[in-house]
Amino acid sequence: MNTPAISLRDLTVTYNRHPAVHHVSGSLAHGSLTAIAGPNGAGKSTLLRAIMGELKPAEGEIRRAIPSRDFGYLPQAADINRRFPVSVIDTVVTGAWKRAGAFGGIGRAERQKAGEALAAVGLEGFEQRPIGSLSAGQFQRTLFARLLLQDAAIIILDEPFTAIDSRTSEDLIAIVRRWHGEGRTVVAVLHDHDQVRSHFPQTLLIARELIGWGPTAEVMTHDNLRRARALAERWDDNAPVCAVAS
Ligand code: ADP
Ligand code: MG
Repeated sequence: MNTPAISLRDLTVTYNRHPAVHHVSGSLAHGSLTAIAGPNGAGKSTLLRAIMGELKPAEGEIRRAIPSRDFGYLPQAADINRRFPVSVIDTVVTGAWKRAGAFGGIGRAERQKAGEALAAVGLEGFEQRPIGSLSAGQFQRTLFARLLLQDAAIIILDEPFTAIDSRTSEDLIAIVRRWHGEGRTVVAVLHDHDQVRSHFPQTLLIARELIGWGPTAEVMTHDNLRRARALAERWDDNAPVCAVAS
């Protein structure tokens, strides 16, 4: 397929008219594996939320090969409420629920698949544990099992490996690579530059505006990273209102 999985044209996303993502254009090929890198506050989560349709562009447009409700999406960990008294298996099963639709029903086959997904992420025997009792790494494994069950063609991950142990991040990176091998389109926000360089063929480097988007070795250069940091140091709460967004 030559049409991209996702394309952005002059995308600007604002909060109270202050741009968090500014005039970004480019596209994600079907089957590509892309890291999103950039300093804190660079607009990485904002970009993903816009791609998911949670935030509307102030300017420009986003085109998607399939509706965003069919994307697999893992928001940044802090956004997920774990105090909800739900078991591991029920959390995983909601992945199938997204696919089947709320009234599609979850049968024995789906629960069996959920069990297999838990085994695939190393959580066999955790089915009945409340999610609130899991370590950060175990909870992230649970969310990956849910993504496995959802079986989405486009998967969007916001900091999937932040604040989890290295063993877990290695296991989960192996799953990301498997998704890539299966031809899915995968995008992940990452902070660890070594992980980006070792595992992600494509990188989108952002500091509100796009610094680079393309093959990782061409994007993650010393100069580009310095430029991203320099831009981040200049940000303050009085950033100018974007003319096009007003
Ligand atoms: P990143 O994920 O790269 O760390 P974010 O996309 O979370 O960055 O945030 C980009 C900018 O937008 C930051 O300056 C942040 O403070 C601001 N921002 C994020 N969410 C909101 C919000 N809900 N309301 C207002 N400003 C926000
Ligand atoms: Mg973020």
